[in-house]
Amino acid sequence: MINKELNIAIIGGGIGGLTAGIALQKAGFAPRIFERAPEFGEVGAGISMSPNATLGLESLGFADFLNGHANEPLEQRLYHGETGELLQAIDRRDCRDTYKAAYCQLHRADLLNMLIDGFGRENCAMVKSLTAIESGDDGVTLTFEDGTSERVDVAIAADGLRSVVRDSLFDNEPPEFSGHVAWRALVPAEKLSALSVDRFNINHLGTGRNIVSYPVRGTQLVNIVALTKADEWAEESWNAKAEKSELAQHYEGWADYVQDLLEAIPGDELYRWGLFVRKPLDTWISGRTALLGDAAHPMLPYMGQGASCAIEDGVILGRAFTAANTPDEALKIYRDTRIERASLLQRESNLGGERLQAINPDAFRDTPIKNEDSLGIFAYDPVTVPLVV
Ligand SMILES: Cc1cc2nc3c(=O)[nH]c(=O)nc-3n(C[C@H](O)[C@H](O)[C@H](O)COP(=O)(O)OP(=O)(O)OC[C@H]3O[C@@H](n4cnc5c(N)ncnc54)[C@H](O)[C@@H]3O)c2cc1C
Repeated sequence: MINKELNIAIIGGGIGGLTAGIALQKAGFAPRIFERAPEFGEVGAGISMSPNATLGLESLGFADFLNGHANEPLEQRLYHGETGELLQAIDRRDCRDTYKAAYCQLHRADLLNMLIDGFGRENCAMVKSLTAIESGDDGVTLTFEDGTSERVDVAIAADGLRSVVRDSLFDNEPPEFSGHVAWRALVPAEKLSALSVDRFNINHLGTGRNIVSYPVRGTQLVNIVALTKADEWAEESWNAKAEKSELAQHYEGWADYVQDLLEAIPGDELYRWGLFVRKPLDTWISGRTALLGDAAHPMLPYMGQGASCAIEDGVILGRAFTAANTPDEALKIYRDTRIERASLLQRESNLGGERLQAINPDAFRDTPIKNEDSLGIFAYDPVTVPLVV
């Protein structure tokens, strides 16, 4: 059994870092999070959590919170972008029976606040931007922008797509623009039709673009995610405020439902993200440091699995530290249990855009969709999947 006094640092307090922190606490450890930002924060947008993630969150004690704050879509519906014809409806009513956990849609801020309260703000050091890391066989030295440094036994790097830790210890090839762009907004439900507010996940498809909507905060708000293509990402920042008129150009001639969504977006609340990718790694461990979440396996959002995968990582990390006799063994169990699964999610998510956008939407009328459900991705249970020891 590992000494519970082990000094564990988590770099980054996003969904991945916080989940890992809570899972380690449940395993009896007292990790600390070092977060760059002065305040925790998530973008104003929705997020979907598939059963593989909700199983993990429930195991950490969040079942009641999810029941109270998330809604469960009845169906995921695919529509023809231009004609508005319903092409396919994927039943989600039976998720709890089939996968023993719900498929949830919720506000990102609600999810993040749940995790912060679960982990405890007092266990987080804010405005701690990691600038350098040295990771050896017996410990890790962290250096921060404010000139301070910390010596810890183990570091978990959950510092996102542009991970300083990944760049320093694993792979310094910069993230590459994928050619995909995401536009996000939240719209008050009263500005929209009853269909948008109903508990459906609605996806309008066309060649080279699609647009998804679903309600969050009960049905008070509607989350809109539009996905388009671009040859390059010219902006310095990877996310930026955007003009509605610019987004509307991508959906000219599309169905009334889509026009109503675009019309309802509040003028100054549309954001645009260039989506960047990095190659899968052969290992996530260097000395006593391991990567987790987007730092380890960033993926395009076409299957809604990035945060779910980070949650799976966190749950398995906690189990690995319970099962192992040494910190090195724990990191190895974590990596060996996770890397194949995460690489699969990364690969399939990155292909998801081509599947949804490359073919004529008419094809979806008769062809069963290859998605996270049909690929068996929902059936993974991070709480019971055998650890690779
Ligand atoms: C348009 C879009 C829609 C998506 N929809 C879904 C969805 O429906 N379902 C789903 O499961 N996933 C979805 N995702 C993916 C999901 O958002 C990410 O995979 C997830 O948020 C990654 O969490 P993380 O904690 O690993 O990284 P991040 O959220 O990037 O968190 C990293 C944290 O580390 C901090 N940090 C960074 N550098 C440093 C440093 N040097 N020192 C200290 N702290 C640092 C950051 O401030 C941040 O708090 C979507 C993504 C996009 C772009």
